[in-house]
Amino acid sequence: MLNFHIITLFPEAVQPYLDASIIGRAQKEKKIAVKYYNPRDFTSNKFRSVDGRPYGGGPGMILAIEPIVKTVTVVKSKIKDKKSKIKIILFNPGGKQFDNKIAKNYSQKYSDLILICGRYEGIDSRVKKILKAEEWSIGPFVLSGGEVPAMVVVDAMVRQIPGVLGNEASPEENRVSSHEMYTRPAVYIVPAGLPAQAGKKYKVPKVLQNGHHAEIEKWRQKQTHSD
Ligand code: SAH
Repeated sequence: MLNFHIITLFPEAVQPYLDASIIGRAQKEKKIAVKYYNPRDFTSNKFRSVDGRPYGGGPGMILAIEPIVKTVTVVKSKIKDKKSKIKIILFNPGGKQFDNKIAKNYSQKYSDLILICGRYEGIDSRVKKILKAEEWSIGPFVLSGGEVPAMVVVDAMVRQIPGVLGNEASPEENRVSSHEMYTRPAVYIVPAGLPAQAGKKYKVPKVLQNGHHAEIEKWRQKQTHSD
């Protein structure tokens, strides 16, 4: 089983997504487990504050070392299995670009992934060194926190675990783009509500309707390579 330990100030923003649909089912079937830890619960000051002003000045606040490191030690103390393979990931827009290859590789190599979600201006840079964490980015843009990146990572990794997608196991998991896809109706007539196109017919490509699997596969291959 692959265990995710998500360290976040906003677990309520993450849990509903990971409890739904395929990922929710993977949890019920014990293919993965997801646990949440809020650094605010591990503060030692009266105000339960988790941040501080940046040395050197500048806007915003920085997530402080103590609550994060404390939280990680708590997480580690709860991982009982001696054979556990633990990896700590920090989210950072400037980190290594996360992709499907990493998703597959890490989901096979590790039993426990500790995902640390940044907030505010980010996390005190010493945390990375202290914890020997890897820094991952989910893309060249800046979000408000590491919660969406954590959801992205869990989602992409869960799809790489054998059996999670069941019979739907899609070949496109091995490439990153998919071919065009269609479902019923075979002919769609645009309704009056879209006046510019009303009455226009949109058809599903014929090749997909004739049941000739070799031809369909060829068409799909061509599609994937052309984008
Ligand atoms: N001031 C920082 C931005 C901090 S964003 C800067 O200019 O770089 C706050 C937190 O959101 C980060 O610590 C990180 O954990 C997360 N985050 C934002 N964008 C991200 C991205 N593209 N990939 C991964 N994490 C991201």
